[in-house]
Amino acid sequence: MDYEGKVYRPWMEANSLLIQATVGCTNNKCTFCDMFREKKFRIMALEDVFQDIEDARRIYPSVESIFLIDGNALAVKTETLLQILEKITSTFPECERIALYGGLNDFERKSVEELKQLKKAGLTLVYAGLESGDQVVLKRIKKGITAEQALAGMEKAKAAGIEMLLSFIFGLGGKERSREHIVETTRLLNIMQPEQIAPMALAVQPGTELEREVEAGEFILPTPLQILEEEKNLLENLDFPTYYWGDHGNNIVPMRGILPKSHEFFLEKIERAIATHPVTQQEILQTFAW
Ligand code: SF4
Repeated sequence: MDYEGKVYRPWMEANSLLIQATVGCTNNKCTFCDMFREKKFRIMALEDVFQDIEDARRIYPSVESIFLIDGNALAVKTETLLQILEKITSTFPECERIALYGGLNDFERKSVEELKQLKKAGLTLVYAGLESGDQVVLKRIKKGITAEQALAGMEKAKAAGIEMLLSFIFGLGGKERSREHIVETTRLLNIMQPEQIAPMALAVQPGTELEREVEAGEFILPTPLQILEEEKNLLENLDFPTYYWGDHGNNIVPMRGILPKSHEFFLEKIERAIATHPVTQQEILQTFAW
């Protein structure tokens, strides 16, 4: 398999076969992200994608799930994406799940009918980065999407029956905007009601604009206590059933499970961490690079 440059996939897809459909990401401007900095977005030639699928078939006797890399593969034209999905399902009839990254604004360029076709062709899950529901934060991090666009994207996914996993970042509002960030994020999530959510604690990646802002004093990092309080606030106010992937490696209290079933258990863990975890005495959360 010939992957171009560094490859990223959600941690939930650790066991999936990765097939490269795009190189880079169409936005590539988010201040906190360094994933595709060295790549200029392009869509892989269809024959190269097909070749990778056939090569993978020769290597792997059984494949349960496939993840299409790189960045927002949902930006690929529907017709092309359908051909890729059809090639995958005919080559790997045993494959149960096909997922990809999509920008919530990628849904603008697809009709509900097209999205239904993608689902029918085998697309089971779209991972999208919401990052924040706070308009001020979204603008500051250069996400290239508004809360309204995010909501419109989600409405289309729901209308097409496409399952969504939304990720967002504790601490992305910084020290001063911690409360607005989590209140607005929770409010938007309660409207969007994604089937799965994945909150991650903010990690400053080397070489990013965020790192420069932190060094210049333009962005003051939240304390670990604030990050825990954001998670507490989120859990106290989420009001829809979803799967909670709170087990990212940078999270202070890694936990995952079904909500609302695990609600009390999760809240107890967070409250205990707020009261007793030594990290609450620190000014900054120590994190690792993605
Ligand atoms: S966070 Fe997502 S949209 Fe933003 S630059 Fe990184 S990959 Fe692209």
